[in-house]
Amino acid sequence: MKIKIVFIFLIFISLDALSYDNFKVMLSDSYPPYNFVDERGELVGLNVDILKAINKLYDDQIEIESGDWSMVNQALETGDACAVAGIHYFDNMDMDYFHTRSVINTYHCFFYNKRYRNNFSIRDIRTTQSPLVVLWENDVLIHYILSLNPNARFVFVRSYEELLDELEREEVDCAIAQKIMSLYYAKSLDKNYIFASDKVFLERNMGFKVSKNYGELAEILNNGLEIIMANGEYQKIYDKWITPHYRSNKDWNKYLKYIILGGGLILLVFGVLLVFNRILKSQVRKQTKNLQSQLKLNSKIRYELEDQKIKAEVSDQMKSAFLANMSHEIRTPMNGILGFTELLKSDNYDSKERDYFINLIQQSGDRMLSTINNIIDISKIESGAEKVLIKPVDIRRIISDLYDFFKFEASENKIDLILKEEDFQSSKVFYSDEYKLNSIFTNLIKNAIKFTPRGSVTVSYSYSNNTANFCICDTGIGIREEKQQIIFDHFVRADISYSSEYEGSGLGLSISKEYVNMLGGTIRLESAPGKGSKFFITLPNIDGNKMYSGS
Ligand code: ADP
Repeated sequence: MKIKIVFIFLIFISLDALSYDNFKVMLSDSYPPYNFVDERGELVGLNVDILKAINKLYDDQIEIESGDWSMVNQALETGDACAVAGIHYFDNMDMDYFHTRSVINTYHCFFYNKRYRNNFSIRDIRTTQSPLVVLWENDVLIHYILSLNPNARFVFVRSYEELLDELEREEVDCAIAQKIMSLYYAKSLDKNYIFASDKVFLERNMGFKVSKNYGELAEILNNGLEIIMANGEYQKIYDKWITPHYRSNKDWNKYLKYIILGGGLILLVFGVLLVFNRILKSQVRKQTKNLQSQLKLNSKIRYELEDQKIKAEVSDQMKSAFLANMSHEIRTPMNGILGFTELLKSDNYDSKERDYFINLIQQSGDRMLSTINNIIDISKIESGAEKVLIKPVDIRRIISDLYDFFKFEASENKIDLILKEEDFQSSKVFYSDEYKLNSIFTNLIKNAIKFTPRGSVTVSYSYSNNTANFCICDTGIGIREEKQQIIFDHFVRADISYSSEYEGSGLGLSISKEYVNMLGGTIRLESAPGKGSKFFITLPNIDGNKMYSGS
């Protein structure tokens, strides 16, 4: 009975020991980045992290140990290790062992020195006359290279450091080695000018080789790999150890320079175009403005020219009318003078008839003199020679003299000449040009009598607040509205036919208006055909300050 209990106890102990015994998995200590001892003396790498991740899932059942690669393999053979990591296989699996699923795929490729060549490919092996290739000692790939180019020459090395050193030589065309590992060494030796070709070959699986005695371990490793691949843990490990060594063959830094340069150039061209566009736009705007103002100027000039043309035409008409009128105005009295002088020579007329002839000769002379005076006056005004001569003026006396002068002519024409003095404050002396006042009122009263066949002509005046106001009103033929403005122009008559029953040069009103202006006053007309006309004149008292210097 005692023996039975001891036996059961021993079985229990051994079962317990079996179930909790660690599986020793060994790996090389110099196979970066898969498994290696780093500078701090720690065992690290892709396989190490994978084993640790699996350990987490399986209660740390795996014991990880490292060593020299041949020693590791020996440990597996002797049963000292249950499994080894980092075994490559494709179809050459060792049937005496379990092989787990692949942990990672590895491949070989060409390595070249970017300082000497831009790229390297199988094509270069074929086309180079006798390429110099760096290879691992005893590497089977020598046959592959010779199959591509029988003239290929080789340099054999025993370490990655040596391999990379050989690539420093310009005559070396390429090296062939495992991609990730070589890139790892190139990086750690700061040889970033060593590049790997895109084209890879000798693709192999890398996984765990497990002793047939440890089927359970093979299961743990396979399942563990399955789980960490599914839960993302594997990817993290991969990104930590493998991804950084994948470096593109494209030397982006070199291209970046050109890209930036090109981009800058495009921007520059764009900017120049933009500026050019702006300049063009502003020039077009400027030109448009210039054209617009030129057009404005042109149309202004055109209008002015048209205006000038119309004025010239009018002036031409007026000149013709004036010449016709003048010849009439001079010839008629001249004919009168010559005709009646001729009659006076004869003895056929008595003294009464002779007096009548002399009277007519005088009238003709007066008429001619008046015409000539008018022409002289308007010429002086036009040339600016007419000056204003300011002196104290007795308005009352001037008007009264004119009244006396025209009374006879009015009665001869059977019209009443009425004089009306309105509000007149004579306390202040009135300063003006007497000659011009006389001329203005003579013209107006003469016209009023001339153009009034019957009725009356009233001359009214007032003087207050330093202003003298006059009105020469008649009940005569009146002036049509359209003529009321232009009769103040030179040589204009309301009835331009010189056969008109009214004699006149068409200068009286324009002279009057110019004189009124020169005296700082205003002249205004109200008239209705058939009813009569009213000429209103306002003249200021021109003291020293308000002297008017002429037109
Ligand atoms: P004229 O020597 O022809 O009288 P004016 O310049 O004095 O020249 O007058 C211009 C024209 O104005 C006259 O020809 C006449 O047709 C018109 N006119 C001037 N005063 C009167 C008026 N009181 N009544 C009617 N028409 C007048």
